[in-house]
Amino acid sequence: MRKLIIIGSGPAGLTAAIYASRAQLNPLVLEGMEPGGQLTTTTVVENWPGSPEGVDGPKLMADMKAQAARFGTEFKSGAVTAVNLLEKPFTVTREGETLQTECLIIATGASAQLIGLPAEKKLMGRGVSTCATCDGFFFKKKEVLVAGGGDSALEEAMYLSNLAASVTVVHRRNELRASKIMQQRAFAIDNIHFLWDSVIEDLQDVDKGTFTGALIRNVKTGETQVKTADGIFIAIGHKPNTAVFKGQVEMDANFCRRRCNRPGVQAGGDLCGHGLHGST
Ligand code: NAP
Repeated sequence: MRKLIIIGSGPAGLTAAIYASRAQLNPLVLEGMEPGGQLTTTTVVENWPGSPEGVDGPKLMADMKAQAARFGTEFKSGAVTAVNLLEKPFTVTREGETLQTECLIIATGASAQLIGLPAEKKLMGRGVSTCATCDGFFFKKKEVLVAGGGDSALEEAMYLSNLAASVTVVHRRNELRASKIMQQRAFAIDNIHFLWDSVIEDLQDVDKGTFTGALIRNVKTGETQVKTADGIFIAIGHKPNTAVFKGQVEMDANFCRRRCNRPGVQAGGDLCGHGLHGST
């Protein structure tokens, strides 16, 4: 029986682990399928306080893990497949092993949001991607599209601009949601282009088993065009990873803001920032 299990090993989970281990609660962190979370797929993190030159995302997460381990945090890999939070002790199942705990911190973060086109999943990994740092290498000197208008889209576009021949950001409005500093940088890069007021209606070519272009509609004129490209990176935000907790805790708008309806359960991090409407 554990005092505390933390599900998730991104910044929220590891911050909780550092505090809990220093409080001698002997936490166990269940790292999930992507140890270190989304920051392990990013490049330089410039808004991390105390790092004036920026810090490499994977290194930042490795350091956080080392810091948590230093105070006695234990780690196990693998995804959580089931929880029972209806009675105490709570149980958490991962890779066939069921663990018992008095308290649980849910820090499962968020995953890339998809547009929702049937072709998207069929062509995922075949020219369609949600991670430029993971897959950008395959598009050296090629033409790529990036869907979205936030910081993620521009970060992907800027990363890809160093590899691809040209990058076209397809955004549904005529102004970006991204921060001004990211906009200034992206606008200054010659091989990044923008298609404004444009939505992606379909991805081609499922029959060939590889992405060859996108059917794009201008929402103001109604005109459509097929923009040929070798790859497309979907960067339209994230959705919270809550599926395994459905029916176990009340996931209403206050889930992260106040004490959970299950005493002993708390949530934090991107899980709260994306869709659960709580403070992070
Ligand atoms: P975001 O800020 O929510 O932006 C999502 C973008 O995708 C928006 O431009 C949105 O359009 C568009 N979009 C959403 N759903 C769409 C759909 N179905 N079809 C087409 N377009 C769609 O998400 P994010 O860019 O992932 O950023 C999330 C948070 O992380 C933000 O707070 C961001 O500042 C932060 N972040 C920071 C950095 C950095 O500082 N380097 C890097 C990445 C992320 P609308 O604008 O029309 O809503």
